[in-house]
Amino acid sequence: MKIKNWLGIVVILIFLSAMLYSGLYTEEHSINTPGPVDGVLDLTNWSFESQGPVTLDGKWEFYFNEFLSSDDFQGSQKFKPTYIQIPSTFSSMNEVKPFASNNFYGTLRLVIKLPANDLSYGLSSDIVLSSYKLYVNGMLYSEVGKVGTDKASSAPYYKLNQSYFDANSRTIELIYHTSDFNFGDNAITSPRLGLATQIANESKLSLSRDLFLFGMLLIMGIYHVGIFVMRTKDRTPLYFGIFCLMFALRMLIVGERFLPSLYEIDFKVYARASYITVYLGYASLCGFLYFSFKTLLNRWMLWISVGVSGLTAILTLFLPFPVIDQIIVYYVGIGFLILIYALIKLLIGLIKGVPYTGEVIVGFVCLLIGFANDYFYEINLTNTPSMIPFGLSIFVLTQAYMLSSKFSSAFSNTEKLSIENASILLDLKHINANLEAIVDSRTSDLKKALSDVELLSKTDYLTKLPNRRSIVADLEALIHDQIEFFIVIADIDHFKTFNDTYGHDMGDQLLIELSDLLIKQVGEDGFVGRWGGEEFLLVIFGEESKEIFLKVDALREHLSSHQYHSINDQVTLTFGLCKYTVANTLDQCIACADKALYDGKQNGRNQVRLRK
Ligand code: GH3
Ligand code: MG
Ligand code: MG
Repeated sequence: MKIKNWLGIVVILIFLSAMLYSGLYTEEHSINTPGPVDGVLDLTNWSFESQGPVTLDGKWEFYFNEFLSSDDFQGSQKFKPTYIQIPSTFSSMNEVKPFASNNFYGTLRLVIKLPANDLSYGLSSDIVLSSYKLYVNGMLYSEVGKVGTDKASSAPYYKLNQSYFDANSRTIELIYHTSDFNFGDNAITSPRLGLATQIANESKLSLSRDLFLFGMLLIMGIYHVGIFVMRTKDRTPLYFGIFCLMFALRMLIVGERFLPSLYEIDFKVYARASYITVYLGYASLCGFLYFSFKTLLNRWMLWISVGVSGLTAILTLFLPFPVIDQIIVYYVGIGFLILIYALIKLLIGLIKGVPYTGEVIVGFVCLLIGFANDYFYEINLTNTPSMIPFGLSIFVLTQAYMLSSKFSSAFSNTEKLSIENASILLDLKHINANLEAIVDSRTSDLKKALSDVELLSKTDYLTKLPNRRSIVADLEALIHDQIEFFIVIADIDHFKTFNDTYGHDMGDQLLIELSDLLIKQVGEDGFVGRWGGEEFLLVIFGEESKEIFLKVDALREHLSSHQYHSINDQVTLTFGLCKYTVANTLDQCIACADKALYDGKQNGRNQVRLRK
């Protein structure tokens, strides 16, 4: 664990110790106070101002199954007291009780000799069986619950109660009428006597301590349950939140018993709630530990703790009180075993360097000390404030610290990841941009290659004139657009002889030269293509046969008189001419032109022939 973390824990410890200091300090002091002996407490030499309040531990008078008043103790002693040790427990009371039953009523009496002063005093009473009426010097001061002689006439209630009075005489007589027909635990805690201001301050201090813890636990609880609701994947905050909420509720019921002093609901409801909050809180604690350290702890720890706690909580709702008090003994046994198991596992984790085990162990040990202290002090969960708040606070703060640092490290990781993601994204963008450029250039290369291929597929390789396929496509387009035209097939006369005379290469040269000449001569009047071999197909736009005939004949004339490169010979062509009409197909029209050409050849060549 980092030094920073330890520092945090030390600060928490100092802070809480300071907060709880006065409460623990006064309790320590009371160890040396004089106790009552056989119903009389001599405080004549006690200085309340400098030595503080006195816890009235010791031997008090008790009169079983009798309600006696102050008057009954005037003059000669008519009633014989039993001296009982206060605080009383089940076993201490059993030793002196003249009967077996744990349901009884009676009078508890103590005479106190006070120092010589005229100060105001305060008396803080907690548990006196399950109900009591307090008389000071014969005057009724307070009543908690309903005191009665049987179950029907009495009602249980536990509430911290302060009574204030002036000591008119140097001797005060405290009489409690008390009864219990509900719980049967024989519990009487020691009242505290002090100056009025001291008692009032003590009460205020512990109430504020309880409410402080309540507020702290409540906020922690709601906050962590909220975190779980937002992200149910991680169950750690849920269990921690429930743990906090259970103990927040409990803080209002035990200790100063803030809730019972506000709302007079049957105390059995509060008593059961104070048990159940512990069971459910404990189960949540185990859940929290399990989900925090899944790698360290076994799953059965969660199942057993939740199962046992749930069952005990349900039983607590229905079973009578003496049985509930019995169950808690077994429950605490199992609970301790589970916590010891978890503690050992966490220590192993600490040695192995599992994160956060140190913080959790510190809080855990404080909580364990708190519970152990109260367990050995008295097995009664309804009545024990003492060390638990201290242990609880440290536990909650250390665990909250662990959770928050887990969350923040998760956030840091996310941030780191998102920065990494951004840079990866940037790289990807660059790569993408490059790819796009590459794809663009490849595409334009391809397009060019494609258009070259297309051009090649339409062009005659030698003369670069449109080839036969291209001409047919162009003719079909003309027909589609209803443009009128003539087809002319021109064939070089005696080309075989030309080849034989000048060679094949010269023949090729002549074909190229003639092609250029034809394009130039036809110009805007139509277009020229190579039909095959030494034959050309000319398309001439127009309607008038005569006009076209003359145009073609002029072309023939021009070609026959043309001076070709490096050849002194005259080159002539014969032309077959045919007008395209919708009555015939294109093939028929071409065949017609071919026939006209044939006629021309037959008729002596170097001429134009028209066929209809
Ligand atoms: P006619 O006047 O009856 O048309 O006689 P001709 O010799 O021109 O006709 P023929 O059909 O007997 O011969 C055509 C010749 O054209 C044969 C062939 O060698 C030649 N020829 C065809 N294509 C090419 C070519 O691409 N280059 C060359 N140099 N000669 C070609
Ligand atoms: Mg020919
Ligand atoms: Mg020929």
